[in-house]
Amino acid sequence: MTAPATTQIPGFRGEVIAPGHDRYDDARAVWNGTVDRRPRLIARCSGTADVAAAVRFARHRDLEIAVRGGGHNVAGTAVCDDGVVIDLSAMRAVTVDPVERTAHVQGGALWGDLDHQTQAHGLATTGGIVGHTGVGGLSLGGGIGWLMRKHGLAVDNLIEAEVVTAAGDILRASANDHPGLFWALRGGGGNFGAVSSFRFTLHPVGPTVMAGPVFWAAEHTTDVLCFYREFAADAPDELGNIIRLGTIPPLPGIGERLHFRPAIAVASCYAGPVEDGERAVRALREFGTPLADLVGPTHYVDLQSSIDDTVPHGWHYYWKATDLAGLSDGVIDIIAEHAYRASSPRSYAAMFHLGGAVARAPRDATAYPGRDVEHNIIIDAVWLPEQNDTVGAAETAWAREFLAALQPHRAGVYVNFLDSDDDTSRVREAYGDDTYRRLADVKAKYDPENVFHNNKNIQPGKLLIT
Ligand SMILES: Cc1cc2nc3c(=O)[nH]c(=O)nc-3n(C[C@H](O)[C@H](O)[C@H](O)COP(=O)(O)OP(=O)(O)OC[C@H]3O[C@@H](n4cnc5c(N)ncnc54)[C@H](O)[C@@H]3O)c2cc1C
Repeated sequence: MTAPATTQIPGFRGEVIAPGHDRYDDARAVWNGTVDRRPRLIARCSGTADVAAAVRFARHRDLEIAVRGGGHNVAGTAVCDDGVVIDLSAMRAVTVDPVERTAHVQGGALWGDLDHQTQAHGLATTGGIVGHTGVGGLSLGGGIGWLMRKHGLAVDNLIEAEVVTAAGDILRASANDHPGLFWALRGGGGNFGAVSSFRFTLHPVGPTVMAGPVFWAAEHTTDVLCFYREFAADAPDELGNIIRLGTIPPLPGIGERLHFRPAIAVASCYAGPVEDGERAVRALREFGTPLADLVGPTHYVDLQSSIDDTVPHGWHYYWKATDLAGLSDGVIDIIAEHAYRASSPRSYAAMFHLGGAVARAPRDATAYPGRDVEHNIIIDAVWLPEQNDTVGAAETAWAREFLAALQPHRAGVYVNFLDSDDDTSRVREAYGDDTYRRLADVKAKYDPENVFHNNKNIQPGKLLIT
C-alpha cells in the first residue's frame, strides 16, 4: 500500500517523500547498495519539532519507524519497508564553542561536517575514520576512531543529547537529566529514541598531525603482525593504529604499479606534536622493506576523508566482525591465511587498536562494554552491484569462513560492526549479559512497546527471556 506524495504530517515543516515522488528512490537508498527497502513515507525533518511530529504521526497510525542518521549501517536499519523513516539527513548543523571546547551537533550530521567545523578551531573529538559516516549511529553504538586511545570513545565525549522518545516527548539526557537514559545512549544504539542533537567535548588536535599508512607486500603479513603486536603494546596513548589487509586501493600518492596489489598496511595517527609523532612511528616505518610509506605531516581533516572513496555509497557490502582475545601466534596465522582469499579486490579486513583511554574508563560508566579489548577485526566483503551474481556469494562466504576460523579467539563484538540477518542473534554477545539486562530495563522505561526496533535491538526488560 502506498501513500500519495501529498501526504501531510500534522505539525511537520520538513519534506515528506512518498512513493511517486521524483526523489523517492534517492531518499530510500542507503550506503549499502544491497539494501532495497520501500518506506511508506520518508519524513525529512527540519528540526526537533519535526522529529517529534513524525514520531507521533507514525505511532498514531501504528506504522513501523526507522531512524536515519548518516544511513551507513551495513544492515540498512535506517530504512524500513512500509513504514515511516524519520530522516535526519537535513539536520547536519554543527556549532562549536571554542572557549568551552564543545560542539553542538544535529542528529543527522556526518563526521565530515563535525571535523570541518571543529578543525577550524584546531579542535576535534573522537569520531569515525570515514567522513561520510553518520555521527548519530556511530556515536550511539560507542564510536571508535583515531583519537580514542588518547581521548576515549565518541560516547566518552558525549555530554548531553536531546532525545525524542517513543511517546513523542522531547527530553534532555545528561549526567544530571535522565541519567539512566544517558548511560544507555552511550553504547545502546538507537533503541531509546531519535536523538535530534548531541553535545560533545572537544580537544586540541592538529590541525597538522603525523599520520598515514605504511604498506608491505602480503607475503610479509605474519612478520608485520608479529612486529605490530609489540609495537602496539608499547604505543603511547596519542598513537592510534589501524591495520588494513587486502589489496592496495588506488589512492592519491600511491603509484599505479601498486594499485590492487595484495598488501598489509599499518596506518597511524599521532594526536600530539608532529615531532613526537615522528618518533612514535619511526620503528614502524623502519620495519622490513615497505612497498610504500605515506606517513607524514597531514591535516587531520584530510586524514579523516582520505579513504572516503574506497568505500563509496551504492557498492555492495557484507560484514563480519569480532573482538579478539589477543594477537596470539594462532590469531596471526589465521589472519595471514584468510585475509587475501577474497575474490573481489575491493574486499578487505581491518583491525583497530583499542586500549589507552578506552580501557581506562570504568566498564559500567557507559553502555559500551568492550573496554578490556585491545584489538578487534572487521571483515568487509565488498563488490560492485553488477558483480552481484558473479562474486557476491563468494565474498559473503569468504567473510563467514574468515570469522569461523577466528571462532576460538573471539571475545565479543562491537555492536556497530554487526550486519543483518545472521548477526541478529549477536546483539547479546555485543553487550554481554549484565549490560544487556541494564539496557533492557532502560528500554522498558523509555520504549516499553519497542517502537524503535529497526536497529540492533534491545528487547524491553519485561519481555526479556533469560
Ligand atoms: C564506511 C564506514 C566506515 C565506518 N567507520 C567506523 C569507524 O571508524 N568507527 C566506528 O565506530 N564505526 C564505524 N562504522 C560503523 C558505524 O558506526 C555504523 O555503521 C553506524 O551505524 C553508522 O551510523 P549512521 O548514522 O551513518 O547510520 P544509520 O544507518 O543512519 O543508522 C544506524 C542506526 O543508528 C540509529 N541512529 C542513527 N542516527 C540516530 C539518531 N540521530 N538518533 C537515534 N538513532 C539513530 C538508528 O537505530 C539506525 O537504525 C563505519 C561504517 C561505515 C559504513
